[in-house]
Amino acid sequence: MSLVQQRRQTRQISVGKVNIGSDAPVSVQSMTNTQTQDVEATVSQILALEKAGCEIIRVAVPDMEAALAIEKIKQRISIPIIADIHFDFRLALASARAGADALRINPGNIGDAKKIQAVVDCAKDHDIPIRIGVNAGSLEKEIEQRLGTTPEAMVESALRNIKILEDLNFYNIKVSLKASDVSRTIKAYQLLAPKTDVPFHVGVTEAGGLFAGITKSAIGIGMLLAQGLGDTLRVSLTRDPVEEVRTGFEILRALDLRSRGPELISCPTCGRCKIDLFKIAEQTEKALLERSSKIKVAIMGCVVNGPGEAKEADIGIAGGDGMGILFKKGKVIRKIDQDELVDQLLSEIDNMTITSEEHNGKKE
Ligand code: SF4
Repeated sequence: MSLVQQRRQTRQISVGKVNIGSDAPVSVQSMTNTQTQDVEATVSQILALEKAGCEIIRVAVPDMEAALAIEKIKQRISIPIIADIHFDFRLALASARAGADALRINPGNIGDAKKIQAVVDCAKDHDIPIRIGVNAGSLEKEIEQRLGTTPEAMVESALRNIKILEDLNFYNIKVSLKASDVSRTIKAYQLLAPKTDVPFHVGVTEAGGLFAGITKSAIGIGMLLAQGLGDTLRVSLTRDPVEEVRTGFEILRALDLRSRGPELISCPTCGRCKIDLFKIAEQTEKALLERSSKIKVAIMGCVVNGPGEAKEADIGIAGGDGMGILFKKGKVIRKIDQDELVDQLLSEIDNMTITSEEHNGKKE
């Protein structure tokens, strides 16, 4: 039985080739932390993110040079790109002309009506959506004075920004409501959900370093998704953005919403373990990131309990004294020297993948 409630009904939009909302799979996105105008560095980070499964990338556009760089970046990447703009409508126009697949800009921050109209016309001409990104830390002054930095204030800001666009007959919108703590973030999305059918981009902003960030994101994004709220997600970590993408897919996998690549399970080890399991698990985890087959792999500390405890895994290894065993579905296949464990496990996984693809008639 799934613990995820029925998904909220939304309108559907698309960012490049990626559909967002309605019945489209919840997509995983990230943001580069390079200087966008440094095309080499930005492209190389995006290519690493693509390899990790990132489906949409956002880049900061603080100036005209960054906006113009989008054209060159786009030629060398395969995933859609979103231009992140604060205030300056000229940067939005330039980014759209340079080929951005979506704009992140809050119409309420653009200024007078003519400028807003210009951005909307440009987004219509290029058929690209606009993400309204409400952040508890940068609400409109008047709303903040009246309601504080509360979920209610975030929702009012979102509705105000949505109305500005919809009054101009622009409906190609998604919205995010981010706070740096889990409770305000969740409450804000819950309050907004019944008031609009705009798809939700979910995430917890400024979530922190690896441990705090993953924990907050897993709980915040996970609880929202479990309530059927969220159409695209970004995990925000003060780390290499590749880690954000990995975390995003692990959250989706934990909720049985989507999976990507092999699933690794491993035991915490105890006094029965006589091999360096931490190192073996780390090496295997790294190698599995580059593989796409959807199998369950177990790394267990001891031969006595390992294969039995991990019998649901398709394949696994368990440590002995200076050696280990390879097992499939709980059945021991053979003994392996400790130094050979990871290599043999990986080559066995690759063989299983080839065999199952041949069986399914897929050869690539
Ligand atoms: S599999 Fe073995 S080493 Fe790992 S926790 Fe269980 S008993 Fe301990």
